[in-house]
Amino acid sequence: MGAILLVLTCCAAANAVQLDNQFTQQAIGTEIRYLMDADDSLTIHSLLSQAQPWEQNDSHIFNKGYNNQSWWLNFGISNQSDLEQWILELGYPVLDNIDLYLVQNGSILHEYHLGDKLPFVERPIQHRYFIVPITVTAGSESEVYIRLRSTSSVQLPLTIWDEKSFNQYDIQRNVTQGAYYGALAIIGIYNFLLFLVLRDRSYIYYVGYVIGMWLFSASLEGWAFQYIWPDATQWNDRAITVFLAGTVVLGLLFTSRFLGIYQMPKPMPLIQNGCTVATLLAFLVAIFAPYNISIRVVISVSVLISLWGLTQGINAWCRGNTSARYYTLAWILLIFGGVVLALSKFEILPRNIITSYALQLGTVLETVLLSFALAERINHEKGMRAAAQQAALNTQIKAKLELENKVAERTRELEAANRRLTEISDTDQLTGLQNRRALDKYLAAELGRSTRREHCICVILVDVDHFKSVNDTYGHLAGDDCLKEIAARIDKNIHRPTDFAARYGGEEFCIVLTETDEEGAEIVAQRIRSSVQSTAINTREGVINLTLSAGAFVALPTADTEAEHFLSMADKALYQSKASGRNRVTLLTQQSKGLYLAG
Ligand code: GH3
Ligand code: MG
Ligand code: MG
Repeated sequence: MGAILLVLTCCAAANAVQLDNQFTQQAIGTEIRYLMDADDSLTIHSLLSQAQPWEQNDSHIFNKGYNNQSWWLNFGISNQSDLEQWILELGYPVLDNIDLYLVQNGSILHEYHLGDKLPFVERPIQHRYFIVPITVTAGSESEVYIRLRSTSSVQLPLTIWDEKSFNQYDIQRNVTQGAYYGALAIIGIYNFLLFLVLRDRSYIYYVGYVIGMWLFSASLEGWAFQYIWPDATQWNDRAITVFLAGTVVLGLLFTSRFLGIYQMPKPMPLIQNGCTVATLLAFLVAIFAPYNISIRVVISVSVLISLWGLTQGINAWCRGNTSARYYTLAWILLIFGGVVLALSKFEILPRNIITSYALQLGTVLETVLLSFALAERINHEKGMRAAAQQAALNTQIKAKLELENKVAERTRELEAANRRLTEISDTDQLTGLQNRRALDKYLAAELGRSTRREHCICVILVDVDHFKSVNDTYGHLAGDDCLKEIAARIDKNIHRPTDFAARYGGEEFCIVLTETDEEGAEIVAQRIRSSVQSTAINTREGVINLTLSAGAFVALPTADTEAEHFLSMADKALYQSKASGRNRVTLLTQQSKGLYLAG
């Protein structure tokens, strides 16, 4: 039994970290030996008094993943320098319980109780990581024992520093961290302002996503515990998963809105619904389930949603959504950051400031690119709006042209209708000859023209003889038949385009002959008269013989000659025809003022 213990103790002897005058810092990994305290029974005293089955850690960082065990770690420090004060950095701020013992020559020099299950103020050095001052007398050796227990992943990035180097490095690191949180805050505020102006829900989801990312990172990196909730030890663990799940919910909402997933063909909207349910469930799990369960659920859902976002970004990009280019690139950067961090944790990639902060770098580049994607979308929508405005303008111009054409068409129709109306209003309904109104217009115009050209003008008035008796004998309708026929005969016997015949009233007609002298006037008047006398008229009541009397007046009009004068002179001549026996023509002229009888 004694021999076995000796072998175990001998095989597991810890390698000491060598400190000399040039020493600045060293990560402690392979120097560590560890053992699992399965039944949680070991104490520092039992470790110091009894040999234990230590195992050698063969990786650069002690990492046992998620488990419910207690672990003991041990390594030696050999101080060959003149300095005595050193700094031990435990660079994983979410560990629950850490008991650290500094042992020299088998006795405990210092002990520290750390972990985020203790209020922040109890830390020996007020730092977001666990920082422990280590005192090792120059030229001597000490040992460090650490007991670890955590519902978070059990991992312990250990670094020993000389004080000066640590302070310098810490300042640099804090500046970088400040830049990271500052950048996220500015992007968040800027996009919130855009939301206020544009009122597009994409922006508020995006702002929520950025805030979530900010809080998640601040919780994971220990800043939130240091500055926001230093006493909330229960909440501190949970905060990481709650904010991560919240970030995923908002990231998914943003994705759906930004890429227009619900406008995509099936089954994309259905899968999107599935993802929404999964993220909401993960959020509930993060709030209510124990940390070791919720962290696994939330991380699985995060990976799932990242892949969904990436594939849909590519999908939208392929469908010609130009803003999706930036979106896709943003997701690639985020996933790339996550993968680099994971690979560095598994020691496939070296652990350095870039790989350790790859996720933060990825998130900040991602948010910048997403911001750019949103800006690009404004630009795109502006272009579309301009195109829509142009289309509206074109439609307006087309409508205006159509309207103008319609107006022109209507105007033409109206003009035609007006012409028809004028025709109708100038035409005698019964006979189809011009009416009294048209006669007045024509006579006035022709008097002016004849005055200017110094031509004679002739007005003939015609009255049917004894017409009353036709009506009395054959009836009014037969009388109308006669009037129509007489009008037709008058029309037939005036040949020149300028000759004009109108129904003057009742059974009286008026004929105007321009550029016509006494001789011409008489010929036309006689022709009309004899055309009625020579041939009987067929009416609905039988054949009727009729005659008519005419009075003509021929004169050279002057500027003050009125139409009325011509009409009354013609009427006077007509009266004479009647008075002298009817069926004849009487011609009066201006010059002679005498009577001229014919027939
Ligand atoms: P006179 O030889 O003196 O002219 O005798 P008349 O009977 O023709 O007398 P007057 O010229 O005074 O008579 C006009 C008659 O013409 C009155 C009316 O019976 C008839 N008349 C007037 N206008 C119309 C009409 O539109 N249709 C019909 N059927 N008869 C009309
Ligand atoms: Mg009459
Ligand atoms: Mg008459």
